[in-house]
Amino acid sequence: MDYRRILKNYFAILDGKKKAVYLECKQIRVDFSKSDSIRELWSKHDKAVERWKSEEGAQKTLLDLKIEIATRIFRNCHFCERRCGVDRTKVAGNCMVKEALIASEFLHMGEEYILIPSYTIFFSGCPFHCVFCQNWDISQMLNGLYVEHEILSKMIEKRKSQGALNVNWVGGDPTPNLPYILKVLKLCETNIPQIWNSNMYCSMETMKLLKGVIDLYLTDFKYGNNECAERLSKVENYLEVVERNHLIAYKDGDMLVRHLVMPNHVECCTKPIVDWLSKNAPMSVVNVMEQYRPEYKAYEYPDISRPLKRSEYEDAVRYAKEKGLCLI
Ligand code: SF4
Repeated sequence: MDYRRILKNYFAILDGKKKAVYLECKQIRVDFSKSDSIRELWSKHDKAVERWKSEEGAQKTLLDLKIEIATRIFRNCHFCERRCGVDRTKVAGNCMVKEALIASEFLHMGEEYILIPSYTIFFSGCPFHCVFCQNWDISQMLNGLYVEHEILSKMIEKRKSQGALNVNWVGGDPTPNLPYILKVLKLCETNIPQIWNSNMYCSMETMKLLKGVIDLYLTDFKYGNNECAERLSKVENYLEVVERNHLIAYKDGDMLVRHLVMPNHVECCTKPIVDWLSKNAPMSVVNVMEQYRPEYKAYEYPDISRPLKRSEYEDAVRYAKEKGLCLI
């Protein structure tokens, strides 16, 4: 399969033919001030994203502007579509996250082969509460350390020198930690692709801030209907949000979609997702994953309390092939 043709930006950065988009974001000059209202900041942001070229005389960059907006959102949190509205300098919202806590960071060799070695940064906390979470010890309880921005930016440089192909922001979920990520990138100068490895329950505002920062969206498309999402991840309006964000990601960068096939969910979840992708994002790379195992509270839910059958996985892959998806 010609992944190079589909994920052309990602491979152009690896080949040294293109800069990671966050480095370009630092070159775009924008005038704004702390006294600007959030409406004025968004207006300047959207115009700068459209313009995407240097503006002589301006002292700040588009990345600075994104950091200022993210700092405001942090005080009235709506990074994800739960839209808790809390001031996270004081309290946590549904995801439990105040400041970013890093549970682990390492060169990951277990991701898709085109991504490894991947410098993977696992944040603690998550806006989802999946009853089968395979990382529940970091996503459903706070379990990590605050790492200064400067230290993590130096770690990125060090890991690149050790062979990392990319920076893989994950968790839990990276969404609550966007201000932290932007501040780290402000201090980085390494030409290395940035990966947003997420459940994609981001707000529209988060998706706008990611544009011009993220090179590859590594998405986790879990459910083909809202009932399963509510029951198993305790989240509302799943499909509306996640489909919207996949369309944005597909337009804004390269996209590699992951779907974990779950027992008894091939008809209600896997096949509708495959149908949607083949219709709306036919040029994305898709990983149909078979490694489901009952974890955390999965034993309390009879439909997902056993491992996946081989026949279920084969049915999922056959269907995805029939629909013409580019599988990895
Ligand atoms: S990121 Fe956390 S605090 Fe912010 S809206 Fe989402 S769940 Fe709530």
